[in-house]
Amino acid sequence: MIPRFKPWLGWAEFRTLFRCNRGAVDRFEQEFARTFEAADAVAFPHGRSALWAFLNAVGVTDAEVVMPAYTCSVVAHAISLSSNRPRFVDIRPDDYNMDLNLLPAALNEHTRAVIVTHLFGYPLDLERVETLIGEAEARYGHKIWLIQDCAHSFGASWKGRLVGSSGDVALYGLNISKMMTSIFGGMLTFSNPELAAQVRAWRNTHFKRSSWFKGWKRRFYLFAVYIAFSKLVYGFTWWLQEKTPLLNYLTRSYHLDDLIRFPPDFKERMLDVEAAVGRVQLKKYPEIIARRRVVAAYYDQHLSPRPDWVPPPLVEGATYSHFVVRVPNRGAVVAKLAEQGIHVGELIQYSVPDLNSYRAQGADCPVSRQASQSTINVPIDPTLTYRNLRQIAAILNAG
Ligand SMILES: *Cc1c(COP(=O)(O)O)cnc(C)c1O
Repeated sequence: MIPRFKPWLGWAEFRTLFRCNRGAVDRFEQEFARTFEAADAVAFPHGRSALWAFLNAVGVTDAEVVMPAYTCSVVAHAISLSSNRPRFVDIRPDDYNMDLNLLPAALNEHTRAVIVTHLFGYPLDLERVETLIGEAEARYGHKIWLIQDCAHSFGASWKGRLVGSSGDVALYGLNISKMMTSIFGGMLTFSNPELAAQVRAWRNTHFKRSSWFKGWKRRFYLFAVYIAFSKLVYGFTWWLQEKTPLLNYLTRSYHLDDLIRFPPDFKERMLDVEAAVGRVQLKKYPEIIARRRVVAAYYDQHLSPRPDWVPPPLVEGATYSHFVVRVPNRGAVVAKLAEQGIHVGELIQYSVPDLNSYRAQGADCPVSRQASQSTINVPIDPTLTYRNLRQIAAILNAG
């Protein structure tokens, strides 16, 4: 069974579980900022906590925050939990990013922030976003924060400019399914060091220290991840996931897409052991991205066109957090591929404005809905071998 994703974890990450790692969070922040060309970085227990904290720290409340309709539900939840309202903008069918032609109509006197997501590693047109936000600021006479959600786009670049290195703030998610991981975790990066200091001070007064017991739970979790994704065991993991409620039960507090609620530890600080794992992963990051680009190019060349399948584009500067294909009759395609030993995911399975919590707004985002019903993501993680790739291409081409 080839997993739909696999974190690239080795001995170096494993060894950190048995060390004391004192001061690792500070070092991880500094190294993260340097790697992604930011002035400073501030660490959080989850990406969603980071976004929630930023909006609170800069005093955005009771306002509208613009966001794409097709993204992770936690982005909308962070907006809601900081006493703001998400305002949804539909996406483009080609690269799944916010349709910037629709952005001006979403901006009004209540808008205090715009979140743009470089989804699946596809860089969004930053110049255009900056221009549109600048015009709206002039019109409404107040600051509108530009928040880049880089949870899928570590190291992607738009016209040679690293995403997240400019603008007000960039958000990264570091859980086990992301391009690099710190077990759990999230990060904000800033080009303005004073803004970073303000957000860090807010975090330090509002986030509790994590208990030593949580440190051991995290170690145990990562240990379980090593085992669950190992070649010998993955078939069993897949079976547990698909045929039993056990794994969903264990991760339930983390995946409440339809409920505006965060996991109980969302206001606890990142642990040193998490940061230590993150520091090891950060060293691998250039290779993680390089390998993903190789796999995307391989699929682009070797997957035969099929009349009703829509393959993803190859785009300059993209980093391919996922290789997303739109297919008709998705359930049948996923089941058939699973029978043949390939686990493809369904990403993202919802359009945020269609979730129960947001449906009452009546935002109509048909492209996002269509994507949510038809996407599969073919394995693209850096642990794949050429043998895996040939096997995947052969099975997909045999249809
Ligand atoms: C994963 C993710 C986040 C942050 O998620 P956490 O699970 O809270 O770390 C934010 N935005 C997008 C698009 C994501 O995929």
